[in-house]
Amino acid sequence: MSHASSGPVPAGSHPLPSYLQADNLGPWGNYLQQVDRVIPHLGSLARWAETLKRPKRVLIVDVPIHMDDGTVAHFEGYRVQHNVSRGPGKGGVRFHQDVTLSEVMALSAWMSVKNAAVNVPYGGAKGGIRVDPKKLSRGELERMTRRYTSEIGIIIGPNKDIPAPDVNTNDQIMAWMMDTYSMNTGSTSTGVVTGKPVDLGGSLGRREATGRGVYTVGVEAAKHIGLDIATSRIAVQGFGNVGGVAGKLFAETGARVVAVQDHGGTIYREAGLDVPALLRHVEANGSVAGFAEAEVITNDKFWDVDCDILIPAALEQQITEANAGRIKARMIIEGANGPTTPAADDILHDRNILVLPDVIANAGGVTVSYFEWVQDFSSFFWDEEEINKRLVKIMKDAFAGVWHVAQDQKVSLRTATFIVACKRILHTRELRGLYP
Ligand code: NAD
Repeated sequence: MSHASSGPVPAGSHPLPSYLQADNLGPWGNYLQQVDRVIPHLGSLARWAETLKRPKRVLIVDVPIHMDDGTVAHFEGYRVQHNVSRGPGKGGVRFHQDVTLSEVMALSAWMSVKNAAVNVPYGGAKGGIRVDPKKLSRGELERMTRRYTSEIGIIIGPNKDIPAPDVNTNDQIMAWMMDTYSMNTGSTSTGVVTGKPVDLGGSLGRREATGRGVYTVGVEAAKHIGLDIATSRIAVQGFGNVGGVAGKLFAETGARVVAVQDHGGTIYREAGLDVPALLRHVEANGSVAGFAEAEVITNDKFWDVDCDILIPAALEQQITEANAGRIKARMIIEGANGPTTPAADDILHDRNILVLPDVIANAGGVTVSYFEWVQDFSSFFWDEEEINKRLVKIMKDAFAGVWHVAQDQKVSLRTATFIVACKRILHTRELRGLYP
C-alpha cells in the first residue's frame, strides 16, 4: 500500500507528485505514516493535513568543484523547505554519502514538527550533499561548501531559511556558509546560519545544546517511570555532537555508559566507560574504535546490551522490526532524527518501552539556534548560564505538555508531539489562508 496516497485527496486536487510517493519504506515513507497516525486527532484542522504531506519547496543543485588533483568533481546537493507557515525555514545541512532527496524531505518535515513542538517561530527545512566528506581535503571541503551555499543562496537568508550543522558539518562549515552568503549579498549577514563559531556571532552553549536537551527530557521522563538516572546503564549509538554530549552529561550524574557504537565499531564495558577519556580518544582518532579500556563487540550485539536507557544518536532507521524485540532498555531517547521505524514503534509500545521521540528529544539544538538568531539580530549576546536556563525551561515545559497530551488521549509520546505540533502548524496555515 502506498502511504503517500493514503488519506483523502480533495476533489480537484492532483495526486501527490511521483517524487513524493517514491521510497515508501525510507524516511519520507516513515514520516507519512506518522502523519497518518495524527490526522484522526486534528479535529477540524484535519482538512489542511494534506499540506503536511507536500514540501513547500524542493531545490536540487549541482555542486561542481576543482579537486586538488586538477580534476573536476560534481556533487548533488539539496535544500528542502517543508513548511514556512510559522516563520522562516530552519534546519541543518548534512554531508554524507547516503544523503538522498527522500531523506532530506523527511528531515525537513521533522524540523517543521520539532520547531512547532517547542514553539520556536520557524518552519521546517533541511539540506544536504551526497558526499563522504572524510575523503575530501580541507580545501576541497571548503570549495564544496561555498559552491553549495551559492547554489542554495537563492532560497536561504536570515528571514527566509536558516541552515545549521547536522551530521558531518560543524561550526567551521557554518563560518564558510556565512561568509559565502555575505560575499554574495554584499554585507555581513551573521543571522543566515546558526551553529557558527562564537567569535562570528555564534551562541555560547549551542554545541552542547542538543545533547543537553536529550539529557533534560531523559531526566524528566525518568521521574515518570521511576527510573533512577544515577544508577542507570546507558547505551549510545553515535558519539558525535549529540551522542557525545548526552553521554557525558548522563555520566556526570553517575550513570554508567556501558556501550557506545559509531561508524568505526562498537565498544562495551560492564563497569562503565570513562566518558571524558573516550571523548578525547574520538577527538584524536575520529572514532571509538581502538579505545583501550573496553572490549569490542559486534555491531549487531549492540542491540542486545543490558541497559536501562538507549540513545540512538546517529542516523535514521536504526531501530526496526529486526531488532526492536531484542532491546532491553526501559526508555529510548531519540537523539538522532528518525531512528525508529513506525513498525518498530509498535513493537516497543507493546513491550512497554518508553520512546522519547526525536521531534521533542533532540529539539534542544534548534532551541539554542533560535537564541543565536535572536542574539544576532539584536547584536546583544547572553552568557551561557542564561542560555542553558532558558533552554532547560523550554525543554521541560514542552515535554510536560506532550506528556499530558499522551496521558490524556492515550497515545504514544510521538503521536502526542505530532498532535501538539501539527495543530500549531495547521492553525497558522488556516489563519494565513491561501494565496491568491
Ligand atoms: P555527528 O556527525 O557529530 O556524529 C554522528 C555520529 O554518528 C558519529 O559518532 C558517527 O560515527 C556515527 N555514525 C555514523 N554512521 C554510523 C553508523 N552507520 N552506525 C553507527 N554510528 C554511525 O552528527 P550529530 O550532529 O551528532 O548528529 C547525529 C544525529 O542527531 C543525526 O540524526 C542528526 O540529524 C541528529 N541531530 C543533530 C542535531 C545537532 O544539533 N547536531 C540536532 C538535532 C538532531
